[in-house]
Amino acid sequence: MKLGEFTIDWVSDGIFKLDGGAMFGPVPKPMWEKKIQADARNRIPLGLNCILVQTEHHRILLDTGLGNKIAPKQQEILDFVQPPTLEQSLALHGLSPADIDHVVMSHCDYDHLGGATKLDADGRIVPTFPKARYHIRKEEWDDLTHPNMRAKGTYLRVNWEAIAETNQVDLIERDGELLPGIHTYHTGGHTRGHVVIEVRSGDEGAVYMGDLMPSHHHLNPLWVMAYDNFPLTSIEQRGSWTQTLAERDWWLLMYHDVDYGAGKWDKDLNLKAAIPLPGQLAPAN
Ligand SMILES: [Zn+2]
Repeated sequence: MKLGEFTIDWVSDGIFKLDGGAMFGPVPKPMWEKKIQADARNRIPLGLNCILVQTEHHRILLDTGLGNKIAPKQQEILDFVQPPTLEQSLALHGLSPADIDHVVMSHCDYDHLGGATKLDADGRIVPTFPKARYHIRKEEWDDLTHPNMRAKGTYLRVNWEAIAETNQVDLIERDGELLPGIHTYHTGGHTRGHVVIEVRSGDEGAVYMGDLMPSHHHLNPLWVMAYDNFPLTSIEQRGSWTQTLAERDWWLLMYHDVDYGAGKWDKDLNLKAAIPLPGQLAPAN
């Protein structure tokens, strides 16, 4: 999609599944299964729709997918299906990982940071994007590198050590403009250091809400995930961002959706416009 001087595309790293109950936290199954069907193991399909933002000068990636370091057992639990890999999806736009000059992370859970590093042909873990600066909110980086008991299974050393060794990480210490037209705002909620990422050109704008709004089924601010570390903050932030987007008539960009890459909603959360994901991203079940 075109947004003023920006071009925004969705570059998939495949699809996977997580437990539907965990994805909808306090919501009883009879309510959420009207929106999305679970498989025999109660899992629902989730996209890994990384967002590619291009300008005349920059090729920016928002979040990085699951990557190629997932062990076979874990792949089975997650029903993680590729192709496409992120690299294949970038190739559809005529780009290779070396063309990406900035990676901006909403947060660092394994399903967002997993593709930041990769296993190379020699079995070494190296940065996936050799020329990129990786922008990570400072609070998120602190928690990522010193995970608490709950976060140990998601903040994985294999996803960050290689980019730290090559000094490719830039810490975001305050809200505001990171690159021309690209702003980040600290929200917390899902994780302590979670940010939303705004792309703005003149009056036009889009906000990537990361796991503060994993899919359009999560528009109701009370439908928080069991994975959210600070659910009251998620409720407050999700509610206020959806109202801000409605007032501005801006796009909401989504990562885990399996139908839409972006949507616009009014203040009562009625859908006004949507951009479907490219066809190859349709759920496999
Ligand atoms: Zn996620």
